[in-house]
Amino acid sequence: MQKDSFTKFKSLINKSNNIVIVTHYNPDGDAMGSSLALYNYLVKIDKIVTVITPNEYPDFLQWLPGNKKVIAYTKQQKKATAIVHKSDLIFTLDFNSLSRLESLGDLLKTSLAKKILIDHHQQPESYANLIYHDVAACSTCELVYEFICGLGGRKLIDQDIAACLYTGIMTDTGSFRFDSVTPTTHKILAELLSTGLKPSTVHSAIYDTYSQSRVKLLGYCLTEKMVVIPELQTAYMALTEKELQKFDYQKGDTEGIVNYPFSIKGITFCAFFTEGEGKIKISFRSKGSFDVNQFARKYFNGGGHINAAGGRGDLNDLQKTVNQFLELLPKYKKDILKK
Ligand code: 5GP
Ligand code: MN
Repeated sequence: MQKDSFTKFKSLINKSNNIVIVTHYNPDGDAMGSSLALYNYLVKIDKIVTVITPNEYPDFLQWLPGNKKVIAYTKQQKKATAIVHKSDLIFTLDFNSLSRLESLGDLLKTSLAKKILIDHHQQPESYANLIYHDVAACSTCELVYEFICGLGGRKLIDQDIAACLYTGIMTDTGSFRFDSVTPTTHKILAELLSTGLKPSTVHSAIYDTYSQSRVKLLGYCLTEKMVVIPELQTAYMALTEKELQKFDYQKGDTEGIVNYPFSIKGITFCAFFTEGEGKIKISFRSKGSFDVNQFARKYFNGGGHINAAGGRGDLNDLQKTVNQFLELLPKYKKDILKK
């Protein structure tokens, strides 16, 4: 855990006039929830703030309060560049390495603005001036809640901010079921609900807005693509770009599919491979002590958390990447089988 003092955070925020918030490539619920919660709070204390995402994000996150003001770097590069150059403070949320910003990271490296990192991923890089980091936090949203309170803004948490924070906590904890959820998490949730926010509103907005083809893609993955290796307590799925296109793939459609094999008794390690945009993206999930952050870091240019990480293949070939993964498995048998 590394948390700088709120005296320092307050002083830097007070001095700053133009604030930018960035989050990781392919933003998820925690990325957008934390960014927009902080955005709405900073706007409330009369700051000029812009959220810039490296690329676009799924429809199911586009209802979040403040969404309309978000700029996607891939879509509005000129505007985003001007805003970054003008900014004097940049918050980097829900990631631990500038490489997670893709080309927006190169722009940030040229910026003279001070940087504040708020994150819960393992092993953060040291590019920031001030840090609010804790791997024990269930989500960046949990940290943003604490951060707003630390700045003295607890009373300013309204239903909009609560909806953003609730979204990130819900999506990063598999709807409050992972061991990262603590009594503190539930106390925060209780407070968020006391704004009048309805849990079903958030849950439905995220999980009950799938297209038919997305649900069919899930069915296809489970019936046709899932490979279970019982002796290694491992299951994986790999999808070609063609298969994704067949199901009219939209960004975010494969989110969460990686977790389904955990419903099979005994499975403790899951992987999910997809081909697209000229790369092979991989998601890893584990139950227990097998550290998928280290695994993704060591072999697949990635990282994340002990039980949830992502990465990409070097080989740019789906089958070869899957083979590389399969060849590594016996070496890790003991770790995967350990409780
Ligand atoms: P997902 O599998 O859902 O894309 O990501 C799982 C976790 O690993 C998330 O917390 C995500 O931020 C992190 N992650 C995903 N891809 C990468 C990557 O390429 N590099 C690093 N460092 N972290 C990643
Ligand atoms: Mn997160």
